[in-house]
Amino acid sequence: MSKALQPVLDVSKLVAWRHALHRCPELGFELGETAGFIERQLQELGIETHSAIGQVGLVGVLRKGSSDKAIGLRADMDALKIQERNTFDHRSKTDGHMHACGHDGHSTMLLGAAEALRSADFDGTVYFIFQPNEEHGLGAQAMIDDGLFDRFPMDAIYGMHNMPGRPAGQLAMKSGPIMAGEDNFSLTIVGRGGHASQPHQHIDPLVISAEIILAMQSIVARSIDPAEQAVVSVTEIEADGTVNVVPSTVTIKGDCRSFKRSVSETIERRMSELAEGICHAHGAELRFSYQRVFAATTNHSSKTKHTLAAAQATNPAELIEYPCDAMTASDDFAHMLLEKEGAYVFIGNGSDSVGGCALHNPHYDFNDEILVTGVRFWINLVQQQLPS
Ligand SMILES: [Zn+2]
Ligand SMILES: [Zn+2]
Repeated sequence: MSKALQPVLDVSKLVAWRHALHRCPELGFELGETAGFIERQLQELGIETHSAIGQVGLVGVLRKGSSDKAIGLRADMDALKIQERNTFDHRSKTDGHMHACGHDGHSTMLLGAAEALRSADFDGTVYFIFQPNEEHGLGAQAMIDDGLFDRFPMDAIYGMHNMPGRPAGQLAMKSGPIMAGEDNFSLTIVGRGGHASQPHQHIDPLVISAEIILAMQSIVARSIDPAEQAVVSVTEIEADGTVNVVPSTVTIKGDCRSFKRSVSETIERRMSELAEGICHAHGAELRFSYQRVFAATTNHSSKTKHTLAAAQATNPAELIEYPCDAMTASDDFAHMLLEKEGAYVFIGNGSDSVGGCALHNPHYDFNDEILVTGVRFWINLVQQQLPS
C-alpha cells in the first residue's frame, strides 16, 4: 500500500468549481455548458479527455507507471426541474432548474481528484467518468452502449453520492443492494361514462380505481416476505370526467421500489391480478403497463471492502458506517455495476442546518465542507488499488 504523502488540496478552487456548476444547472442529456466546463478544467490540468460518450458523457484519462491495472471513478452531472428557493450568491441562474441532488458537488470532487492525482504516486490508469442524465436513469446505459467499458477497459468502477441526514463527511457503504430498483406502472381503467345524475347507467372507473388503490396497499403488507423491503406508491390519478360527468377512463400511475428482481416481479404480478379482478367484477376493461426503470444498485463484496479501506485511510472510525442501511432511492450507477464489478458509497452531507436539507428539495445545497473528504477518499482509493 502506498505511503506517499497526500497532495495539498486547493479548497478555494474546489468551492469555486462547485459554485460555478451550481449556477448553471442543466437537465438530462442537455449538458453542453456543464460538460464543456468540466472538459475545459480537465484540459487545463493537462488531462486527456474523450467527449460525447453517451451523448454528452465525458471521460478523463490519467496514466502513470507501467501497470495495466485500471479503475473508473464516476460522477453524475445533471440537475433537476425544480425552482431553487435559496438566495445565496451561487444560486441557480436558470429559472426552474436546480442542482438539488448535489451532482455539482460530485463532479467537483471528481475534478479535484483528477487535479490532485497528477502529483500523487500510483501505478496504472484512472478513468474519470462524468455521466449525463442520472435523474431519468438513462445516462449510465447510454455511456455503456457507446462503448464505455470497451474503449476504457477497467478492472472496477466506483461511484459516490452525498446523503443529507448523515454526519458531514461520513463515508458509508455495504455489500449487496445499497440503493433500490425503481419500477413505474400505469393502470388505465376503461369504464363507461355519462351524466353524474344517472350512475346506474354507467361503469364508473373512479369508484373502481379507488378500490384498486386500496387493494394495492395489501401487496407489500400481504404478498411480500416481511424480511424483504418494498414500496408501492400511487402518485397520479387522471380522469376525463368533470363536475357533473362520470368519466369513461381513469389512469392511475405510480412508482415501486425493491432490492431484488423477484420482489419486483411479485409486485407486478399482484398488481395485475388485483386490478384485473376488480375491473372484471365491475365490467370494466384494464390496460396495464409496468416498466423497470432503474435496477437495484448492488455492490460487489470485494470492491466494497476496497471502499472501506479507502474510507479508513480518509476518516476516523466514528465517521465511517459499515455496513450501512440500504436506501429505497435509486441511482442508475446500478447499470454500470451490472456490467463491471464495483461499489457505490454514501458521503454524509450533514444533519443540521448545514447540509441536512433533503435531496430534491428547493432549499437543498451540496455542503462545501465535505468536498475535501470526497477528494481524499478518491485519492486514497486510487493509491490503494493502483499501488506504486
Ligand atoms: Zn436525484
Ligand atoms: Zn443524485
